Amino acid sequence: MREVRVRDTMSGELVTLDRESEVGIYACGPTVYSRIHIGNARPFVVFSLLARFLRSEGYRPKLVINVTDINDKIYTAAAERGIGSSELAAEMTAAYFEDTGRLGLGRPDAEPLATETVGPIIDLIATLIDDGHAYESGGDVYFSVRSFDGYGKLSHRSTGEMEQGEGDDAGSLKRDPLDFALWKALKEGEDTSWESPWGPGRPGWHIECSAMAEAELGQLPFEIHGGGSDLVFPHHENEIAQSEAARNRPLARIWMHNGMIETGSEKMSKSVGNIFQLSEALDVYGPESVVAYLISGHYRQPLAFGDGPLSQARAGNERLRNFLRENPPAAESPGEAAAAAGERFRAALADDFNTPRAMREAFDLVRSVNQSPQDPSLAGAGAVLAGMLDLVGLGALAEAEDSGPDEEALGLLAARNEARESKDWARADEMRDRLAELGWEVRDGADGASLVPRG
Ligand SMILES: [Zn+2]
Repeated sequence: MREVRVRDTMSGELVTLDRESEVGIYACGPTVYSRIHIGNARPFVVFSLLARFLRSEGYRPKLVINVTDINDKIYTAAAERGIGSSELAAEMTAAYFEDTGRLGLGRPDAEPLATETVGPIIDLIATLIDDGHAYESGGDVYFSVRSFDGYGKLSHRSTGEMEQGEGDDAGSLKRDPLDFALWKALKEGEDTSWESPWGPGRPGWHIECSAMAEAELGQLPFEIHGGGSDLVFPHHENEIAQSEAARNRPLARIWMHNGMIETGSEKMSKSVGNIFQLSEALDVYGPESVVAYLISGHYRQPLAFGDGPLSQARAGNERLRNFLRENPPAAESPGEAAAAAGERFRAALADDFNTPRAMREAFDLVRSVNQSPQDPSLAGAGAVLAGMLDLVGLGALAEAEDSGPDEEALGLLAARNEARESKDWARADEMRDRLAELGWEVRDGADGASLVPRG
């Protein structure tokens, strides 16, 4: 069992994971008010693959990714569409399961919904009121930030730099502008609510996560709390305040944050703008390219988004796929150099989950074999590479061709769609003809163009 270390946001230090007990990982999932975008897919992929790697190293991870299906944004979006908020939340929760399912990484060990955790949420709020950390005001309940000494220890902010971002409507009910809502009374125009000791209403976003994490992972602290770096303040700071004030124990031992997906770095064509939605990116590039793109940078760094990086990921996958076609994984014990490459791949993942460094090892192995195909120390490279790719969710690259369109065909289809949008009919026809050569016929339907095998 390898020693695995990850960078803790709170201390800034690399921390070694506990190999003796269950590695509880709670990562904040999406708020389901619309179809998820590729930015929401990043923590899903990073934490799913981290759990997969830990399992392969003999650790016992339990990955929890919640669904925030009670939130202001859901009320607003439902009103805009003229449907009930619970209807919208159910529809978008199903879409989230479908879209992330297409990534081919399996499901987290637990995926709690806020709507199914309202009992524990109310209990936690009641504990905070009893202990003097929260107060009821006009049917709302607020957390008293100044009652908790450690406030700001994750984001390293002083209270003078803090703004809860809850708008002005709650201002008059708060004793202190720093305080934040644990429970919000039912307002006119809102169509879902739950009964509570403070009257009908609904929980605030932060308390939902504190309660869901504890419900799934048991006594605090659990090992890793994760999520996007945009959640450090106020969301995670508030989770710490609530959970630690109520339990007098740390919430999590390690805080692990992924960087944001950045859309500003490449000029976006209209079609690229659309693929910011995960489902669209999957349609255009296929799951392996999307996963390869999402692990192409270190998880803590921002990642530039656009056709450039996605196409680059696709091209890289094609190199790996072609190599595996010519060097199919076989049951032979690997040569020394091939085995060492596999070890370095795992060592990179064990070192703060450095996926770009790991993938460089994969490509270096391919290059070495291509340069010296007869080198006995590189024997078994196909199997070593397949093992590497499986660890990072790209195992499909080693599988025999399936009957669906491959990355090349999907790329041509995307190029055709783009050409049609810019009314470049000659180029669109050229793409159609190239698809025909590959055995695919383009069918234009209500949901856009799709590929069917030519009869
Ligand atoms: Zn959360």
